[in-house]
Amino acid sequence: MSHRSQELFDRARRLIPGGVNSPVRAFTAVGGSPLFIARGKGSRIWDEDGREFLDYVGSWGPLILGHAAEEVLVALQEAMLRGTSFGAPTELEVELADELVRAMPSLQKVRMVNSGTEATLSAIRLARGATRRDRIVKAEGCYHGHVDSLLVKAGSGVASLAIPGTPGIPRELAELTLLVPFNNVPALERVFQENQGSIAALILEPVAGNMGVVAPAPGYLEEARRITRKARALLILDEVMTGFRVAYGGAQAVYGIDADLTTLGKIIGGGLPVGAYGGRADLMDQMAPEGKIYQAGTLSGNPLAMAAGLATLKSLKRQNPYSRLDSLGRRLADGLKEAAESAGVALRINRVGSMLTPFFTSEEVTDFATASLSDANRYSAFFHGMLNRGNYLPPAQFEAHFLSASHTEQDVDRTVEDARHTFREMER
Ligand SMILES: *Cc1c(COP(=O)(O)O)cnc(C)c1O
Repeated sequence: MSHRSQELFDRARRLIPGGVNSPVRAFTAVGGSPLFIARGKGSRIWDEDGREFLDYVGSWGPLILGHAAEEVLVALQEAMLRGTSFGAPTELEVELADELVRAMPSLQKVRMVNSGTEATLSAIRLARGATRRDRIVKAEGCYHGHVDSLLVKAGSGVASLAIPGTPGIPRELAELTLLVPFNNVPALERVFQENQGSIAALILEPVAGNMGVVAPAPGYLEEARRITRKARALLILDEVMTGFRVAYGGAQAVYGIDADLTTLGKIIGGGLPVGAYGGRADLMDQMAPEGKIYQAGTLSGNPLAMAAGLATLKSLKRQNPYSRLDSLGRRLADGLKEAAESAGVALRINRVGSMLTPFFTSEEVTDFATASLSDANRYSAFFHGMLNRGNYLPPAQFEAHFLSASHTEQDVDRTVEDARHTFREMER
């Protein structure tokens, strides 16, 4: 049935490790081989065999407007015709920086990079340089890109492929990364107590999305803010996924938390490769050429990515789709829950706005340990049942499903009906 995808995958595997340019795409966690996508429009994608799918991956988060959004394509075309890259400052960079700084009060200055990974890598370098301390605290199951210091007990593909620690990262470096369970204040208190004066920063996904979606417990982010401030360590909120997703101003707007540094990516590039890090001016001014901490990029702030990002943010501002996205998310979560119950399937759904994850467990999911109780085999069965019925979900349990402003209530209702059949099939 997926004849061309299979052919392309066979060819890809001879040329690219695992046939993919990012591991989770390979369907390793759910079995089978990946679909090759030919095109997308709005809430839908079509594979190379011409099959249509309702898409709940959205390129892993960036496509909050849906695929091939008209305003983004027009902005890209206009920028493209003027030239793709200059390696010199352009007006678009200033405009995007201005928009980011307006959207997030904790951001006084910001620098563009080319991926979320580059953003977090630069942010922890800045944190280490500014505090003259080396240790970083991260939460188990949070994913901050494939940065050496941040891959320890990471979520997303690292969790899905059950890779405990990655070869290639020196032990001496990994030892500088201290782990805490997400949503656990006493553990946070303890790690800062035991490492007084040596922790540069705590980095957190304010709403975890890479162990599946896990919301911060009431008070958790406030405590994280208080504890880091007291220890004179920086709080880095990694909003690569949540920025402009859970609200225009990101999770820090929703929960009212002031970060010292914030990392961004995904939505702010509108589907092009982008990242950004920013925060307090006194910190950002320590980056070269203003300061001594070095970070650079040949294509950073390139006009195409800036144009796509700006067009996306402008459209989000104009449409303000967040309350509609929230009610679509609720409709999907409620529908899935009801369908699972009526089929006798144990399911927990975590949701924050338009990001959600169904976990196949009856326990509440609040951290990586409880997320790991989800039955991965059942997720795989669910994934394939849904795929066969024309729904493209993330091909792994520890990921977020995303809705876009292009999704309709009819889309969601169809997906819920498909889930109803899939759950019944799973119980047979
Ligand atoms: C996706 C993601 C990253 C990494 O971004 P890339 O562009 O894939 O390098 C970092 N942090 C979080 C929270 C993410 O969701």
